[in-house]
Amino acid sequence: MSKIAIIGAGISGLTAAKTLMDSHEVTVYERNETAGGLAQSVKAEGCVFHICGANSMKNIYETSRQFIESLIDMDEEVIEIKRNSAILFENGEVSKPEFHGMFKKKITEIEGVPSPIENHIYMFKPEIQQRIIADLFRIKAKEKNKRAPKFLATYFKAKFGQTLYDMYFGPYNEKVWHSDLHKIPLTWLEGRLAAPTADKIIFANFNHDKTKFRCEKTFLYDINGGAQRIVNKLVEILGDRLRLNNTVQNIARRDGKWLVNGTDEYDQIIYCANLKYLPKILQIAEIQPFAEYISALKSHGTTSVFCELSKNPYTEIYLPGKEHRAHKIICTGNFIDTNNSENHRMTGTVEFTDYVPEDEIRLELTRMPLNPVYITHRYTEYTHAIQDVDTRETVANLKKVLQPWGFYLTGLLAEWEQYNVNQAINAAIRTVESIKN
Ligand SMILES: Cc1cc2nc3c(=O)[nH]c(=O)nc-3n(C[C@H](O)[C@H](O)[C@H](O)COP(=O)(O)OP(=O)(O)OC[C@H]3O[C@@H](n4cnc5c(N)ncnc54)[C@H](O)[C@@H]3O)c2cc1C
Repeated sequence: MSKIAIIGAGISGLTAAKTLMDSHEVTVYERNETAGGLAQSVKAEGCVFHICGANSMKNIYETSRQFIESLIDMDEEVIEIKRNSAILFENGEVSKPEFHGMFKKKITEIEGVPSPIENHIYMFKPEIQQRIIADLFRIKAKEKNKRAPKFLATYFKAKFGQTLYDMYFGPYNEKVWHSDLHKIPLTWLEGRLAAPTADKIIFANFNHDKTKFRCEKTFLYDINGGAQRIVNKLVEILGDRLRLNNTVQNIARRDGKWLVNGTDEYDQIIYCANLKYLPKILQIAEIQPFAEYISALKSHGTTSVFCELSKNPYTEIYLPGKEHRAHKIICTGNFIDTNNSENHRMTGTVEFTDYVPEDEIRLELTRMPLNPVYITHRYTEYTHAIQDVDTRETVANLKKVLQPWGFYLTGLLAEWEQYNVNQAINAAIRTVESIKN
């Protein structure tokens, strides 16, 4: 039975540990006092606060489904929630107040367009509609000879046109990623972006067709705190294999073994922590040619602000405008009633990219729709691992160098990928399969 150290008890490390624990001796190191990493939710004033995002289950694949089913009773605990998201426009872009009737309850003083935006072009002012229609005809005319777009900006413009790019896709994504969308490769968000043709968009708008083009019309959610429930179950199963409050500071080679923090010997290592820390932690010469590239990788953090919100029918509200520093309100109180406590109106999370100090948060909230009232907040320094054109290949090369030594990388920050929980679970299982065989 070989000894394996797993670094990081986020969903990736926990998945790898559970998958290997019957055939190997595993130890999981976690620097924090709790496991779960980005997938954690906590209780704040009796309500469920997801410290990062919504922890909803998206694009669930067969492998991750089987893994999750081995942990929780999907029939009893998991509900399927219909996505009801809206995009907020506050500068008179939406023409017809009667369309607000499409929202079961109107958000005060705002003009929301249901998401996905390309299905609801008919809601904009006539001059905006005309510009979008002209864009779609231009796209259609070029469809046959067009080279496939390689970057996020060129993709959005090629699929939806300049007008929708300027109104929504550009400003919203720039707010989230704080990056030049002309430099982010499309491959980074592979499988997550819709690819409707221009004629399908036109047809849907003629017919007010409710068929949504985006991949995620519904999502799954564990009624006991989202992905935290999966984390709790894994923590319970792993027992004392999990070492909390245990930061891995260095990993070296000694006598054909890996030595963690100068004391504990292992045959193999699965690294699920941040790639940025690796050149400092890993004390072998082979990592050094990668150090400069890794240090220059771009990343962002997230400030998640837990609030009371006015009652509304939405799951998420997107805020592309410059009026608000936040980019999204996730109405987790609408996922399931038990996410709210009895004395709260309803709760949700306002999401800001990067660090925002509390006084600025409170000021921003006063200007936002749904009258958010501050409860608490968390800042997480590393949440978005932004790729450039060379990232995938460089990480693949690094893996090729490390794997013969029995050193593996898996996880959102370890592989510098934009994984959701299911993708992280899948990737961890794939990594473990390559160890087992
Ligand atoms: C804003 C936001 C919203 C999201 N929303 C959703 C969503 O709605 N649905 C969804 O499916 N996914 C969502 N995701 C993605 C999901 O949260 C991640 O894919 C998943 O949690 C990544 O898990 P991980 O284990 O790969 O990484 P992490 O969760 O980052 O785990 C890494 C762990 O390593 C530990 N660690 C770091 N350094 C060390 C060290 N030196 N020693 C020991 N331990 C260390 C960290 O403390 C951490 O616990 C969201 C992500 C973000 C950022």
